[in-house]
Amino acid sequence: MLLISSKPGHEQVESDLRRNLDGRGRLLQSFAMTAGRRGFLVDGVDDRLDRLAALPSVAAARLVTAPYSLVKREERPAGSTVAFGPSQIGGRDFVLLAGPCGVESRGQLDEVADAALRAGAVGLRGGAFKPRTSPYLFQGLGLEGLRLLAEVRERTGLPVVTEVMTPEDVDLVAEHADMLQIGSRNVQNFRLLEAVGSIDRPVLLKRGMMSTLDEYLAAAEYIYMRGNEKVVLCERGIRGFEPRLRNTLDLAGVALLKRLTHLPVLVDPSHGTGLSELVPDLARAALAVGADGVLIEVHPRPEVALSDGRQSLTPAALEELARSLAPLARALGRDLARLPGRQAEASV
Ligand code: PEP
Ligand code: MN
Repeated sequence: MLLISSKPGHEQVESDLRRNLDGRGRLLQSFAMTAGRRGFLVDGVDDRLDRLAALPSVAAARLVTAPYSLVKREERPAGSTVAFGPSQIGGRDFVLLAGPCGVESRGQLDEVADAALRAGAVGLRGGAFKPRTSPYLFQGLGLEGLRLLAEVRERTGLPVVTEVMTPEDVDLVAEHADMLQIGSRNVQNFRLLEAVGSIDRPVLLKRGMMSTLDEYLAAAEYIYMRGNEKVVLCERGIRGFEPRLRNTLDLAGVALLKRLTHLPVLVDPSHGTGLSELVPDLARAALAVGADGVLIEVHPRPEVALSDGRQSLTPAALEELARSLAPLARALGRDLARLPGRQAEASV
């Protein structure tokens, strides 16, 4: 199958393509891409790749093999990096992203953001729209939570990542956040993947709790093929049979993902274990196995958190974890990423 993208503003690309199919092949689908382009899937004319690619309205044409091609490691053997605020995710530096599971109040978010800064985190995570298994649990502050995140970013300089649950909310969340998180439960919400694929904003795509790696990479391809190449993966545990663990953190899957795809891969040991006392060990293991960073849940008083308190570190525990990551990173030939200008304040 051929994946063809138009040049921006080229309305006639579809008729150009049809004319050059000469009744052979099928135009299966067309879709909106980033930067005002359109994409086209054309079946049955793989031998016409060069001819279609040379059309004046066509920006690029390539042969794709289902279910994922563009995110395969071979496409970019050196790996790709995704800019998040002033930092790069996926390069030599290991990134620490930290924050509460859910944004609860300005005071809570301020306390956690200050702890994240002291620990040397380069990003603040926090849910405003919370997908909860029970409809009776805290669902997040919604727009108010987004506003609090944006305010705390202004105050601290920490770029923020927060979840978007529906295609309708993509623009609103993108107005407030530096990176959009797609949660585990939405990894195969294809309309949502398409919606974040056609905007120009980094996406943190969490692995589904029951996704195989191939299904997961196909989900990433949904975003990537629409032109948004700023995709960061995150292993957050898969459903296992051990009732003592909320999930089973698939670190072997992380090592394999790093070989299968050029996309950066983070690890979330908070959801991956469900137990705060295990989070530091699994975060260090993530670094050792070659992940590009970790996403850590933190709450000033985990025992009263409105969501995921049992797996949340205290600010002090976050700082201690950060202190232990730095020498380990150096031993592995890497460094911890730092926000520019925050070197002196970092605790490590
Ligand atoms: C979260 O990050 O708080 C979250 C809900 O994660 P997941 O989608 O991995 O369960
Ligand atoms: Mn959570």
